[in-house]
Amino acid sequence: MTVSPRANVTNSPRRSAKAVQSPDTMRRNNLSVILTLLHREGTLSRAQLTERTGFNRSTVGALVAELSELGLVFESEPHTAGRAGRPSPLVHPNEKIAALAINPDIDAVHVGVVGLGGKVHRKIRYEAATKPTPVETANISKAILDGMRADLEVMDRVVGVGVAVPALVQASDGTILLAPHLKWSNQSLGPLLESALGLPVRIGNDATLGSVAESIHGTAHGYANVLYLNGSASGIGGGILSAGAPLRGANGFAGELGHTLVSTGGALCHCGRRGCLDAEVRVENLLDILQVDSTDHDELEAALMGNNSAQLLTEIQRQIDLLAVALTNFVNIFNPEMIVLGGFLGTIYSASADRLRSGIDSGPIAGIGREVKIEKAVLGSDLLLIGAAELAFAQLLSDPAGYQDDIQTS
Ligand SMILES: [Zn+2]
Repeated sequence: MTVSPRANVTNSPRRSAKAVQSPDTMRRNNLSVILTLLHREGTLSRAQLTERTGFNRSTVGALVAELSELGLVFESEPHTAGRAGRPSPLVHPNEKIAALAINPDIDAVHVGVVGLGGKVHRKIRYEAATKPTPVETANISKAILDGMRADLEVMDRVVGVGVAVPALVQASDGTILLAPHLKWSNQSLGPLLESALGLPVRIGNDATLGSVAESIHGTAHGYANVLYLNGSASGIGGGILSAGAPLRGANGFAGELGHTLVSTGGALCHCGRRGCLDAEVRVENLLDILQVDSTDHDELEAALMGNNSAQLLTEIQRQIDLLAVALTNFVNIFNPEMIVLGGFLGTIYSASADRLRSGIDSGPIAGIGREVKIEKAVLGSDLLLIGAAELAFAQLLSDPAGYQDDIQTS
């Protein structure tokens, strides 16, 4: 089953909680519906907006005019050659409304500028000689953004900063409770970044944000039930989109899929148990065989595709078989429509797709695995920057007019 973006954007509690809304509240909610749709879908004609939202034509016209005045969208005339009737103007999200995105990882800090609509305008990967601390992450981010001044000056506005961290992040205040691979615990990265950059900062778990990015702007666009599993130098993380919303759990920690048991008595995991997926399916094993030391997504993929040694094949098959064990459990538990594999998991899937497919076809109960699509994440090295930017765009998208008021009065 796929869902239309219309179903997605009308999911918000703000719109469903109240049966009776004041005209002002309704107008502001409707602005949010239109802007969110344009952010997710890209350019749409006014006629398409009318069809997708169910609003009448004059309402759409008024909402687009208001968003235009706020500088968040702009209109253009469509190509009309050979078509009868009055053409419907095209409405575009303004890509120069930007968010800053930051992703600290064990060997690098990634910083990007992402526009409304999900376009990555600019990104920098700063290699760190040692695991960056929170203070170093803030200092490196500040230095990179100082160097991007020219890119930022051409933006109409920077709305804030989103940060994707390979960590357990407390949903209520963004405190990083534990980032095992970075060796951070109980860190308040948000205030450090806010004082370094002078912008509001929101922080989330990297894999959850990856799942959000792929479901909005990537391969799972339009799907409501998605299991996303990402493999990086910081291990394996996951995110679950269930009925169109990220599964968060009581404190925002849901989706620690890397700590599912795949091998009884297997390798010791940093969580203290043995045989977790995270301890068995590791990019380090591949790097050792390939004799490369960069975990950069594109470089790893090129090295892997250029090597067909028996040792590499054996290791890939071992990892694929254990990945199939984990995914079988996840299909039984979450019943996704689509599994999206990111980072090096996508790479090993490309190298041995049939083997994983047959594991998923036969593993889950009652053959439900045969219904599941398996896709490689398509956003590549943009993935976590786009996901982090979603955090920074969230407030603007939920109340475009109110957000503007906040800016003007602050
Ligand atoms: Zn573990």
